[in-house]
Amino acid sequence: MTTVIKGGTVVTATDVVEANVLIDGEKVVAIAQGSGETWSEGADRVINAAGKYVIPGAVDVHTHFELPFGGTYVSDNFETGTRAAAFGGTTTVVDFAVQVKGEALRDGFDTWMAKAAGNCAIDYGFHMIVGDVNDSTLKEMEAMVGEGVTTFKLFMAYPGVLYSDDGEIFRAMQQAAKDGTMIMMHAENGIAIDVLREQAVARGETDPKYHTITRPPQTESEAVYRSLALAEVAGAPLYIVHMSAKEGVAELTLARDRGQNAFGETCPHYLHLSVEDDIDVPGFDGAKYVCSTPIRFRSEGHQDALWSALARGDLQVVSTDHANFFYEDDETLGRQKRLGEGDFTLIPNGLPGVEERLNVMYQSGVVEERLTLHQWIDMCATAPAKMMGLFPKKGTIAVGSDADIVIYDPGASFVYGVDTIHGNIDYTAYDGMEIGGKVDTVLSRGKVVVENDAYTGTKGDGQYVKRGMNQFLV
Ligand SMILES: [Zn+2]
Repeated sequence: MTTVIKGGTVVTATDVVEANVLIDGEKVVAIAQGSGETWSEGADRVINAAGKYVIPGAVDVHTHFELPFGGTYVSDNFETGTRAAAFGGTTTVVDFAVQVKGEALRDGFDTWMAKAAGNCAIDYGFHMIVGDVNDSTLKEMEAMVGEGVTTFKLFMAYPGVLYSDDGEIFRAMQQAAKDGTMIMMHAENGIAIDVLREQAVARGETDPKYHTITRPPQTESEAVYRSLALAEVAGAPLYIVHMSAKEGVAELTLARDRGQNAFGETCPHYLHLSVEDDIDVPGFDGAKYVCSTPIRFRSEGHQDALWSALARGDLQVVSTDHANFFYEDDETLGRQKRLGEGDFTLIPNGLPGVEERLNVMYQSGVVEERLTLHQWIDMCATAPAKMMGLFPKKGTIAVGSDADIVIYDPGASFVYGVDTIHGNIDYTAYDGMEIGGKVDTVLSRGKVVVENDAYTGTKGDGQYVKRGMNQFLV
């Protein structure tokens, strides 16, 4: 099966060229000018991309499908979540398998592999959440490399659930340093935050906005600094997930200036939503956007700091931390966000985004001139692929790469709303946002999985991808 993508503008993180792309089976086999007609004659399929960008399929390295949280489950499972991702031009996700206390790392990995197997629309990998640092877990971290798991996430937040203390964190970092793997950190001081939450509830401060107020920026930046210092002593690479506070980004920037192997991601919701506009609103609507780290106050200047760090490269990756819960009660899943009516501490943390990321970042980044076209592709596809050991199989268009390709139409436009999304969810964080571009056609390993606003793939097309080591390390 050969496919030619003809007449488009091929754009990668580094290059832009008017060219035709020849796909044989699952791989890109040639990129050339002037060969379109010859190739087209013998091709099984010709896709006309005139006037459109031909870009690498996006890579989202932070999703949580079917994750248990706060007495309920993330509403997207691997089938609905990866299909929504495909609609949004994302062709690879890296999700998180969870080791819970008392369980082996391997058990968590097997559980999540079983959830995903045969259900995914696009390719997928796994990080491991390490919920129980002990001698046997540390040994298992090395063994997981053989399974293509090269990143291990720890939590400084959520005491009593996924929390690790500094000694546990440090031991896991030493193990990562030994194996060449990378620690991912949820950097928030969960112990102090729990004190603030208890005190707020005792005062009757139960509205969604108190979720942010009880997680002030210093509770993030202190944990960012502490984890960076511990990683520096251990000699381990560190990737800080979902950064939202400017004070935390400042700490990361200092560490990078010292030459530390330290990296960071942020998410579209931190770049677009604020307490003033979205959380501190009448009724319970703010619960839709309760997540951790929290959406912050616009007046404090966090968004400008995040955009600036993305543009200069101190934050490398835009991921989604996709973890959606129904706002209104769902027939199957019951109460989700509304579990926290009358007590913000019971609102499940997270929001959707896996479908919206590429389009939203195109509008705010490229159309509104905060980023170049190449930076947009880099932070949504190429940098995450390199960061998680998937490049150049994923994250670029090159001879030999997987034919994960998005044909992006800069001439189209649409408005986000609950009718223009495809996940198992009843709201979008970008309701009413006009996007001056659109994902047009999506290919996953050479197969067209989205065209004309319809899903044309088959459940189970997506395959597990074994990952290598971080390719940014110095
Ligand atoms: Zn997460």
